Amino acid sequence: MHKTAGQRDPAAAFPLAHGRDDAGERRQANRAVAVSAVGLAATGLVELLLAVVTGSVGLLGDAIHNLSDVSTSAVVFLGFRLSRRLPSERYPYGLERAEDLAGIGIAVVVWASAVFAGYESVRKLIEHGHTDHIAAGIAGAMLGIAGNQIVARYKLSVGKRINSGTLIADARHSWLDALSSAGALAGLVAVALGQPWGDAVAGIAVTGFICHVGYEVTRDVVHRLADGVDPEIVTVAEEASGSVPGVVHAHARARWTGRTLRVEIEGWVNPELTARECDAIGHLVADQVSRRVPAAGSLTWIARAGPADPGC
Ligand SMILES: [Zn+2]
Repeated sequence: MHKTAGQRDPAAAFPLAHGRDDAGERRQANRAVAVSAVGLAATGLVELLLAVVTGSVGLLGDAIHNLSDVSTSAVVFLGFRLSRRLPSERYPYGLERAEDLAGIGIAVVVWASAVFAGYESVRKLIEHGHTDHIAAGIAGAMLGIAGNQIVARYKLSVGKRINSGTLIADARHSWLDALSSAGALAGLVAVALGQPWGDAVAGIAVTGFICHVGYEVTRDVVHRLADGVDPEIVTVAEEASGSVPGVVHAHARARWTGRTLRVEIEGWVNPELTARECDAIGHLVADQVSRRVPAAGSLTWIARAGPADPGC
């Protein structure tokens, strides 16, 4: 069921089959992300247009927020595409890290737009800025609420059907984003009720939401660039390797290159074993790790002559 070594190379890096990650489900998840991104992009662009027409900073911030979210989805797509590129001599691991590079770009853009939206909001508050065509602005904010709610429900239903945690978390994000649009709406309603500062205050609140996106994007990209990994992965990979007959002791390391989780297993074996036997153990280790850590996309097996050093 699990494919082991496709190509045999001297470093004993086994490309692993994604056990649980069914291709059909992945396609459904991709489609859900793509459809949502198009929906949110349309919502954001209409809001942006209405923000210019009305001079509403609340709407401006909400539009920027929605467009920032779309750009993060675009990076995920870029990652999918580039991760299909085959490794070359110049890029022996492929181009998967391009996704992280693009992530830095997105983080810069999101923070810059947060500064822009915040600056415009504070300026409007101080200068007692005016809001025109309030009805159109209110319609824009309602579109923001509706757009995010529809996208949230859609992602949640697909996420539940294919059992995708990422998609369900994404749905929750979109649901919360409807609150940002509701903030813009509240500001405009306040203006309509004779409180001209309402929109500027809403703009400042919505800027907080953009900062939140900026924080999440930055945290993720820094984590990936610093080769951060969920410690659970290392523990489980060590347990899985240690359970293979012939492995006296195992150390694991793992890191992401783009969307591929690369696992390195250093396994102590009986020093009398032949290279062929060590290799066979490596295949069993790859099988076990692939079963227990379905995210693992590649496994490097290093056989060490045991027993394990006492310091570990
Ligand atoms: Zn968002």
